[in-house]
Amino acid sequence: MSARLTWPECDVIILGGGPAGAAAAITLARAGRSVVIIEKSHYEQARIGEMLPPAARPLLMGLAVWEPFLAGRHLPSPGILAVWGEDELYQTHFIFNPYGQGWHLDRQRFDTMLVQAARQAGARLYCDAQVASCLPLAGDRWQVAFTSGVAAGRGQHQLRAMFLIDATGRAAVLARWQGSKRLNADRLVGLASVLAARSRESDCPENAYDSTAGIPSADHPARGRGQQLTARSRERARLAGRGGCGDGL
Ligand SMILES: Cc1cc2nc3c(=O)[nH]c(=O)nc-3n(C[C@H](O)[C@H](O)[C@H](O)COP(=O)(O)OP(=O)(O)OC[C@H]3O[C@@H](n4cnc5c(N)ncnc54)[C@H](O)[C@@H]3O)c2cc1C
Repeated sequence: MSARLTWPECDVIILGGGPAGAAAAITLARAGRSVVIIEKSHYEQARIGEMLPPAARPLLMGLAVWEPFLAGRHLPSPGILAVWGEDELYQTHFIFNPYGQGWHLDRQRFDTMLVQAARQAGARLYCDAQVASCLPLAGDRWQVAFTSGVAAGRGQHQLRAMFLIDATGRAAVLARWQGSKRLNADRLVGLASVLAARSRESDCPENAYDSTAGIPSADHPARGRGQQLTARSRERARLAGRGGCGDGL
């Protein structure tokens, strides 16, 4: 029988092993706290975007992941071109930025690097996890029940911790569990497509944002493909006859 019941205690449970969850885990684990990350995916699916601005450099250095970040060989970005809410093209050249260039991220590689750094710092990672419940206990403690996947040995787990961090991004799992309702500030939806790379690294180093509501596009020639991201109103998305995510970005 593969299922098993475990009852370990730790200082902090982090729901979500994206950049926020991994950064929190790195910081806490290096401070001597016992940390468990519960991550829904196995980082196997492509993650949308991203253009990392130069200001991220001191943050990555602060987390002591600058060397592994550079080893990821993300493509350099010298600036941003954007059309957003008006007709005029707006340019930001990073040559004027004190931190230097930005990067077109390979998000899978970036997120995996961060979570590996968290593991090296001592955090425990459960992937392919499904959280069943998050219960506040007496004495300011939390109890989280979840199942995990192949990487950690499939099974049922129940963890207790003093602190619980919701780093599930827009899923906001804990906040929703606590009864929070999402407030949409606009009616934008996101559309994404993966394109064949058209040119070499030196030909397309910039992020381009375009169109009525903004079309960021980032090529990843090193991976032989590019991504185009579009933010549109729900109405324009429906007229374009393509799917989009349900809530505003
Ligand atoms: C279309 C789009 C384009 C963007 N472009 C840029 C950009 O160019 N530059 C930039 O800096 N930012 C960009 N962003 C924003 C950026 O993606 C986010 O700020 C960043 O990903 C937030 O990191 P996070 O760790 O908080 O959340 P996420 O990256 O969303 O990570 C959340 C993690 O929680 C996990 N998770 C979700 N639900 C559960 C659950 N129930 N149980 C366990 N784990 C769960 C997910 O698998 C994921 O690993 C963009 C966002 C979007 C949507």
